[in-house]
Amino acid sequence: MKLNFELVPDGCWYSNLRSILSPAQWDVVRREAYARAGGRCMICGAPSHRLEAHERWEYDEERCVQKLADVVAVCKSCHEVIHIGRTQLMGGEVRASEHFMKVNGCTYAEYRKALGEANEAHRRRNLVPEWKLDLGYLKKFIQS
Ligand SMILES: [Zn+2]
Repeated sequence: MKLNFELVPDGCWYSNLRSILSPAQWDVVRREAYARAGGRCMICGAPSHRLEAHERWEYDEERCVQKLADVVAVCKSCHEVIHIGRTQLMGGEVRASEHFMKVNGCTYAEYRKALGEANEAHRRRNLVPEWKLDLGYLKKFIQS
């Protein structure tokens, strides 16, 4: 799926980069993502001058490592799909499901299946007592 759900394990309170980096540092990371995007959502390609920065994490469940893989610039609609848990709570699931099906060219059944898989991975990852954080991605932004 081109656009998929990315549920962050519950214990990863620190996984929001805005709470790790200073506002100035976060700004550098964010702006680099916007520059790469060139005014288009990096997932669905929709032109937008109001893109949002999204942190992409990879999980190594064997080693309990949560790795920052990328920071991408996405449109509001894609961001709502990615954070489906929050979107559901805010009553936006119908709109999010429609965007998911449009971008991925899939059926409602496939949407439900992908959601089930994401929830299952989320449950499994919540069993890890503590994730070690790999922020190697940020090295290129830090001047020594
Ligand atoms: Zn998008």
